[in-house]
Amino acid sequence: MESFSFYNPTKVQFGVGMIRKLGSEMMNAGVKHCLLIAGRGSIKQNGVYNQVMESLSGCSISVSEVWGVQANPTLNKVKEIISFAKEKQVDAILAVGGGSVIDTAKSVAAGVYLNDVWNAFTDVEKITQALPIFTVLTISASGSELNSNAVITNTDKLQKWSFTSQHVFPKVTFIDPTVQCSLPFKLTANGAIDAMSHIMEYYFSNNKALSTLCINDALLKNIVKMTDILQHNPSDLVARSNLAWSASLALSGITGIGMRGGDWACHQIEHAISALHPDIAHGEGLGVIFPAWVEYMSEKNPSLFLRWAKNVWGEDKVALGVRRARDKIDSWGMATSLRDLGIKENELSEIAKLIMHDSEVGGISKFRSHDIEALLMLAY
Ligand SMILES: [Zn+2]
Repeated sequence: MESFSFYNPTKVQFGVGMIRKLGSEMMNAGVKHCLLIAGRGSIKQNGVYNQVMESLSGCSISVSEVWGVQANPTLNKVKEIISFAKEKQVDAILAVGGGSVIDTAKSVAAGVYLNDVWNAFTDVEKITQALPIFTVLTISASGSELNSNAVITNTDKLQKWSFTSQHVFPKVTFIDPTVQCSLPFKLTANGAIDAMSHIMEYYFSNNKALSTLCINDALLKNIVKMTDILQHNPSDLVARSNLAWSASLALSGITGIGMRGGDWACHQIEHAISALHPDIAHGEGLGVIFPAWVEYMSEKNPSLFLRWAKNVWGEDKVALGVRRARDKIDSWGMATSLRDLGIKENELSEIAKLIMHDSEVGGISKFRSHDIEALLMLAY
């Protein structure tokens, strides 16, 4: 097994009704005035907003609010919120939403201390501090509630890029799975595919990290099983809870232990696709790209993928495992080809160009332009 460093300081408050502890957690951390960041208002419909405000007012924490963070969150919005946070002189950031809201919150928390927040994404400036971040999760997908990454789209440059900094680990994350019972199934499935993809980005990187692989086998199978249950019964609390926790674990650091940092080609490819088409959900894009990537890679090295085909899909040939994965995604009503996603064939070269902003893509195999083009055709 490889040498590794593991660090995850985020405290998790998980379970039904746990949001009531938000105020006391923030008060104990010395917060007096926080900036609440949210999406387009679903938290007002599902009761989360009221629970949050009640808990905060019970602890005399004042709140400024910013709304309107969208899926594939943008740099322009981050910059607007940074100005607002400075003007209001808040002492903490509270993200109430999913990965887009949390990634925006992380960028703001670090960005108030930077000359230009985009510099954190381009490595021009180093993050040395950030406002404390608290999160109330409303959709399980990105795992951002339990890690130190943020992904933001610079719409002017069509760059969907990320940064990692230990200063943006949330201090406390609240996950009440009941708030996800009202999600449309498509969002649940998007989240499940994203979580599976996070595990798979690591899965094939080191066949000797057996403890991690055993955890990853179990998480992948569990995510499929729980999603199947939720397709027919969205309110099944056992399935909601276990899908939520599996998705958080999927990018908490645990699934990558001893995995040499993972591959991440599929994420890089998907980020280029949704930079060009912000209406394409991250999870749905990954559901198209990942099976194609396994198919493409396994032509060169099938043995690398045998364990996955066998342990996750119960097949002894990789091609059959890929087929099972695609059939499952299809059975959830999700796209299985770039064509299904509404992408035109003449856009593939532009997508390939966006992907190749680095000269190499991927960890296990370094993809060059011709690999990307072949993979996109395979996914088309
Ligand atoms: Zn992802």
